[in-house]
Amino acid sequence: MNIDLKQLTKDLAEMVGKENVFSDRPTALAYAKDTMPWDVEDHHIPYAVVRPADSREVSAVLAYASGRKIPVHTHGSGTSLVGLGRPKTNAIVLDTGRMQTLEIFPERGYFEVGPGMHIGKLRKALAPHNALLPIFPGSEPVATIGGSVSVNTSAHAVDASLCKPGDYVLGLEVVLPTGEILQTGTESTRKPAGIEATKFLVGSEGLLCIITKIRMRLIPRPHMANIVAYYRSTEDILDTVMAMYKQGVPTPLFFEYLDEKAGKIGFEAVGLSPPTGAVAMMSMHSATEIGCQEKARLFLEFVKKSNPIEARIVTNDAEWGKIWSSRAEAGNYVYRLGSTFGSEITPRVDKLRDAFREAKEIILNLESFQGNEFYSFGHIGAPTIHAYAFMPTKDISNEVKKAVTMEVREKTEALNVKYGGCGGEWGLTAQRAGFLTKKYGSTYVEVLVRIKKAFDPENILNRGNLEGWM
Ligand SMILES: Cc1cc2nc3c(=O)[nH]c(=O)nc-3n(C[C@H](O)[C@H](O)[C@H](O)COP(=O)(O)OP(=O)(O)OC[C@H]3O[C@@H](n4cnc5c(N)ncnc54)[C@H](O)[C@@H]3O)c2cc1C
Repeated sequence: MNIDLKQLTKDLAEMVGKENVFSDRPTALAYAKDTMPWDVEDHHIPYAVVRPADSREVSAVLAYASGRKIPVHTHGSGTSLVGLGRPKTNAIVLDTGRMQTLEIFPERGYFEVGPGMHIGKLRKALAPHNALLPIFPGSEPVATIGGSVSVNTSAHAVDASLCKPGDYVLGLEVVLPTGEILQTGTESTRKPAGIEATKFLVGSEGLLCIITKIRMRLIPRPHMANIVAYYRSTEDILDTVMAMYKQGVPTPLFFEYLDEKAGKIGFEAVGLSPPTGAVAMMSMHSATEIGCQEKARLFLEFVKKSNPIEARIVTNDAEWGKIWSSRAEAGNYVYRLGSTFGSEITPRVDKLRDAFREAKEIILNLESFQGNEFYSFGHIGAPTIHAYAFMPTKDISNEVKKAVTMEVREKTEALNVKYGGCGGEWGLTAQRAGFLTKKYGSTYVEVLVRIKKAFDPENILNRGNLEGWM
């Protein structure tokens, strides 16, 4: 596509102010890179980056881009772990970072927030209203509410306990690719039944619209009680999760695990003695302190039946802070100290053990790279298995990085097909375009393409993500 970059920059500056348009190479490169481990290529590099202030400015940019068929890629914080954050074609990147308005209406039971506000900042702002933000990514300090609602991730939370952010979204303000501004949903706390646009647009991964405002229910913050348990092996933790669902035991809000190797690394990083075996961390929630203590007592009783080495309620906040952050430290280790290829397997809960065993075999027997290590940690109560292929070096050719990505992706997707999962956390299309056909068939994918076409006839938004381009 022939683009007059000077003219484009000038036109965009008229819409959002010249201080909010960037077409210099260093900025463009920064927006081309995401967490995916392979190098930036020419087709990822944006023509320009714009930072509009509100829906009116977003509308102007989209109407302009649609008219000229210029692709637009929406950028929250760009922390997506499955490639959603990287433009797949030269595009205008629209950064939502300036849209950070927040109005809290306790008397109406909701708040309204701009998409660019970071999760951590929003959580702090809601705390004086005793409200819980139901989204808990490891990237909390930097991930935006717009990015999180766009992939509809509750992240660490167990779905059976708290559902997904979309269940709490009452309405949206969005800008369609044509530039039209749409209000959806309700200002009541009663959500509309039946066909309704909010449901299509939450979780639409920037393919159908750009979200410029989110109206979300204020959820009373629960009391919490925390449990740590040490097991001889990760498999014993999986058995506990399977028993929890089978016996209908009320699920914790969080149920995280660290496998044997990740536990050692995480605990050492936070200054705790290395655990024997694998670690499980559970957080129980309830509306009252007494209710919470009782729930934790009962859950501990249940956990002890699964024969852990040790299991106890942790009452010391500082100790819990360390135990909890060991999980993030394990993530820091694998992502920072080498090349890491992650996967998300969300099997039927009665197949957790089989799926884990097969995932481990896949990761330890890669054809595209030999000598990698296997790590696993994450939200096992959800249930989510994150199986990581870790190479303790960054010095690997781009071709091999791509080959490993594809091998891990295809083989773990096959596990999701085999065991009834679909990926429940990180978003779908950029990494799983092929998987959708394997799991649901070509008609399903065609339906998605038709929905996209109805919203975005010129396919300008996040072009390449639904197609599965790299
Ligand atoms: C260290 C680390 C830990 C993480 N932990 C977790 C975790 O525990 N659970 C989890 O689910 N994820 C996790 N992630 C992935 C990621 O942080 C989350 O998915 C996060 O919610 C994405 O937010 P973002 O602002 O970075 O979105 P981006 O990556 O910028 O965007 C994600 C997608 O949403 C679209 N988008 C963004 N904003 C809008 C908007 N306003 N309107 C329309 N579309 C939009 C983008 O085009 C893209 O397709 C982690 C990432 C890192 C680096």
